[in-house]
Amino acid sequence: MKSSSRLDRLPPYLFAELSRKIDAKKAEGVDVISLGIGDPDTPTPPLAAEALAEAAADPATHQYPSNRGRPELREALSRFYDRRFGVALDTETEIVPALGAKECIFNLNLAFLDPGTAALAADPGYPVYTGGPLLAGAEAVLMPLLPERGFAPDLSAISGEDAQRARVMYLNYPNNPTGAVVPDGLFEEAIEFARANDVLVVHDASYTETTFDGYVAPSFLATPGAKEVGVEVFSLSKGYNMTGWRTAAIVGNAEAVEAYWKLKTNIDSGMFEAVQLAQAAVLDEGDEVPREMNTIYARRRDLVCDALEEIGVEVTRPKGTIYVWAPVPEGHTSASYCELVLEESGVVVSPGAAYGPNGEGFFRISLTIDDERLAEAVERLRSSLSSGSSGGARPANAPPALRRYT
Ligand SMILES: *Cc1c(COP(=O)(O)O)cnc(C)c1O
Repeated sequence: MKSSSRLDRLPPYLFAELSRKIDAKKAEGVDVISLGIGDPDTPTPPLAAEALAEAAADPATHQYPSNRGRPELREALSRFYDRRFGVALDTETEIVPALGAKECIFNLNLAFLDPGTAALAADPGYPVYTGGPLLAGAEAVLMPLLPERGFAPDLSAISGEDAQRARVMYLNYPNNPTGAVVPDGLFEEAIEFARANDVLVVHDASYTETTFDGYVAPSFLATPGAKEVGVEVFSLSKGYNMTGWRTAAIVGNAEAVEAYWKLKTNIDSGMFEAVQLAQAAVLDEGDEVPREMNTIYARRRDLVCDALEEIGVEVTRPKGTIYVWAPVPEGHTSASYCELVLEESGVVVSPGAAYGPNGEGFFRISLTIDDERLAEAVERLRSSLSSGSSGGARPANAPPALRRYT
């Protein structure tokens, strides 16, 4: 059997070695606590399940959906964008439902990239920004996100050649994995860059509803001129505890939305209409859901950050997302530190390098685990990793000095 060469282009799975070690620990009987994956642990709001049950009982929802989506959903998305972001969306041309932000972002690569062209992808970043272009036969050009720039890419550093090849640019704020919120002026700069280089800006809005300390995240589309050059991919997965539901939408530039729709009509047959109606109900009636979740995540964030500070890890408290992004101690790579944490405390954290070369030197902690287990994990980190006892052997391949996140 021969699989396609496009699969061979994917980079090696960076969690593979860590997964093997996790399995080995579990086999030894260690009670492993995973702070690795970002998947909300609390249930989907009852209003979603109730709306789904009602809609699913109606045979009118049982046939093939259209890829355009039910008018009820497009209207609810339009109302939500107006109320929440002050952004007006045309329900006929500027909104199409997506089976999750992941599906949407992947398929945008197929809709916009050809061999020889490229996507500009945040590094570190959500893996689909780089894997998607490769599977589409194109390339990803990495835009480093550095702490000293507030994790904003330096668009002036993109070479003329890369700018010419680029057809799309992926941005994501609040940002996974760094927890950064959008730096002032970045959206404006991206719009200017997109105009000058004929690039489609794709803003991944997976965490706009997940913010703390009074910070309210903007929509990219609220920046003047955004709709002429860009789209936003809005997802209910993280903010509304709906990861399993595959509820998202692409909104914004009509030409880009149309290209996505045209591609999709050849790939899938859309979102179950009962799920569409449940998504509409959550958008209309669920404003308090993310607010309640944010209280929980902010508390967990403080629990984690307090403990990290106590063990000598400098950390910036994120104003959004479900992650804490922290520097690994001097002398470690992100992989060697994650192995040490697992070895000494039975706690799984994600190596920053899994999100791109500029994630090296960091690790990511996910806040999606119940308070009691998180407290237990934090206690273990505190007792086994406090400065002094965390002197695991320096790996041979460790870079001489790792960037500090200050
Ligand atoms: C979780 C996540 C996604 C995936 O969202 P779905 O809507 O569940 O597919 C996309 N982008 C980022 C940055 C994420 O963290």
